Amino acid sequence: MLAFDDLGIRFGGNQAVQGVTGSIKPGIITAIIGPNGAGKSTFFNLLSGFYKPTSGKITFEGQDITRLPTHEVVALGVARTFQTTTIYKELSVLENAVLGHRVRTRSGLWDALLGSGRERREGRASEAAAMEALRRVGLETQAHLPAGSLTQEAQKRVSIALALATGPKVLLLDEPAAGINPEETVGLTRTIRELAAGGLTVVLIEHKMSMIMTLADHIMVLHHGQKIAEGTPQQVSRDPAVVEAYLGG
Ligand code: ADP
Ligand code: MG
Repeated sequence: MLAFDDLGIRFGGNQAVQGVTGSIKPGIITAIIGPNGAGKSTFFNLLSGFYKPTSGKITFEGQDITRLPTHEVVALGVARTFQTTTIYKELSVLENAVLGHRVRTRSGLWDALLGSGRERREGRASEAAAMEALRRVGLETQAHLPAGSLTQEAQKRVSIALALATGPKVLLLDEPAAGINPEETVGLTRTIRELAAGGLTVVLIEHKMSMIMTLADHIMVLHHGQKIAEGTPQQVSRDPAVVEAYLGG
């Protein structure tokens, strides 16, 4: 579905991702794990078009997306969240999700919020899509609250709704459970499982092993920018190279 071949990016002398080849299979949850600085977020930045690789190729459903700008990658159906939550705290939860939907049509902030005529009709369509995204993450009753007034965990759900509102086929989640408590992590894990059960392909970067072991169908391990292992959670947790990467740093 989403395939990468010899993917690499260098920042000055730092080869952050190197020679990564593989693919994301549709309809399952894939987890990307690896020590801090392994290149996981950079890998997401490459897949989602935020960074352009210095080597290699990315295809989505057979189409070469290696050099496409981010909004075109989003329009094709690849959406992502960021490690640090990026939502508009002054806007309502619903307005945030509407903005997610409008990324697809590339209308700006003010068009999305204040537009008239055709914009207003499209705005209603955006609002319906945005409400549906909020429902999928369990935020429909908070739709009209300022996003910044929500708990940290709910704000993470807003950022997922923003991505969902773009209508993705693949959702890339960068450490969705970072900074939330164990109880909230259980709730968020359930939500992610429901999204996947609904047919969405999910790729998840996460450090919380409990979450990975309950969610991941497939795990890919990065270390020093390279893929050192992949397989089922059982296979990967028994892999000597993985144990070495975590213990040896
Ligand atoms: P992870 O998410 O696995 O913790 P990152 O992908 O954030 O790791 O970082 C991998 C490496 O790439 C690090 O050495 C980091 O400093 C470097 N890196 C990431 N983004 C940039 C950038 N925009 N400019 C320079 N170096 C970067
Ligand atoms: Mg990271």
